[in-house]
Amino acid sequence: IIDVSNVDKEFSGERALDDLSFSIQSGETFGFLGPSGSGKTTTLMLLTAQEGYQAGDIQVFGASVEKLKDPKQMKRVGVLTDNTGLYERLTVEANLRLYCKLYDVNYQRIAEVLNEVGLSGEESKLVSKLSKGMKQRVKLARTILHKPELLFLDEPTSALDPVSTERIHSILRRLNEEGTTIFLTTHDMYEAERICDRVAFLNKGHIQLQGPPRDLRVSHSNSSITILLKDGR
Ligand code: ATP
Repeated sequence: IIDVSNVDKEFSGERALDDLSFSIQSGETFGFLGPSGSGKTTTLMLLTAQEGYQAGDIQVFGASVEKLKDPKQMKRVGVLTDNTGLYERLTVEANLRLYCKLYDVNYQRIAEVLNEVGLSGEESKLVSKLSKGMKQRVKLARTILHKPELLFLDEPTSALDPVSTERIHSILRRLNEEGTTIFLTTHDMYEAERICDRVAFLNKGHIQLQGPPRDLRVSHSNSSITILLKDGR
């Protein structure tokens, strides 16, 4: 569903991604791990056609990633990042109604998505009155309103407490079981182990290692994380 070949990305002469290549199969949950500044968010921006690149090729749904700018193709994708906040002074329902308009989705779908993220009955609450974890679930509800086939999530649980994190994980697992392909970035190997079929470990814009998380051995020190394949490669 995603094919990335030999991609280079520079910001004003600084290399952010270096000869990046990987593929994601339909139905997978794929995790992008790596230290701060390694290029995780940049990769997500490229895969969703929000940023261009200097060399290589990116194919999504079997066509150039540029095609995602076409509104019909855009509807096949959902993107959850920190950049798109909720309207704090509107209710949960009003926030979701705005997106229904944008994506041309029937308002009846709001009750369905709120049920999916465990927020049934909260529709008339003001977003400003919700906890951080609930806000993240409203954002996730908004992201899946139009039933995207492919979901991109940038550090979806980074600022959440363990209970909220587990809630998000179980929602993502269910979406994946129902057929949604998921690409997510994370700092957290534990998160990768819980929900990802495969992970890639990024360092300075280049993939160091990739494989199923259970096959990777992770060692943490104060300054770095080392990831090795368990069979010693
Ligand atoms: P974090 O975990 O902290 O979010 P990251 O792995 O997502 O980090 P990126 O945000 O992708 O890393 O950044 C990769 C590199 O590209 C960094 O050196 C960053 O400074 C640079 N970079 C990212 N976006 C821009 C931009 N819009 N303009 C200039 N440089 C950028």
